[in-house]
Amino acid sequence: MQRARVKVREWWGATFEGSISIETNIERVLSMALIPAWRGERGQMIFGAKRVNAGEAATVHEMIHVYAPTANRFLAEGLAAYGHDLLGGPPAYPNFGKSFDDIAGRTANQELAIALERTPTPNALETVSKEGEAIACSFVKFLIERHGMDKFRALYALTPLAPMQRDPGEPARWQQIYGQSFESIVDAWLTMLPRR
Ligand SMILES: [Zn+2]
Repeated sequence: MQRARVKVREWWGATFEGSISIETNIERVLSMALIPAWRGERGQMIFGAKRVNAGEAATVHEMIHVYAPTANRFLAEGLAAYGHDLLGGPPAYPNFGKSFDDIAGRTANQELAIALERTPTPNALETVSKEGEAIACSFVKFLIERHGMDKFRALYALTPLAPMQRDPGEPARWQQIYGQSFESIVDAWLTMLPRR
């Protein structure tokens, strides 16, 4: 976790200098750090012991939630899973080392993307689609690789996390940052996904 913190801090910036507390819980499977941040306890992480013992802890993923929390759940999970793979975290939820684009190519469509993008923190993307987090990651990867990190950061900054509030941001912010609607960016992303 200390290595994950160093990597995330170098990659995203020194946006969190507080202390981090890590709890493992034998009753949990999934890990969390964004929901504690939403509750006002940024820096708290909870990991399911089973995944930790299996070497499948979402280490970098959760660290990104601490360094880069946001009120838009779709962007939060997309960035966390993208950064986890990019910075070499162990195989972990939601893709366990598999290609995000393959998972998204099987399940994503325009309507689903819109519903996912309207999801505020702390609501779960899985209530929209079982593959919600993998779809988010494929989309965020496309956004960053196609349009660059500066624009992504500008978009991200428009949905700061406010504890105990649910607000995924205005749809119009996509036009403001990218000069095109969310729907048209989704169209471009969908056409490059591998289809079966
Ligand atoms: Zn997450």
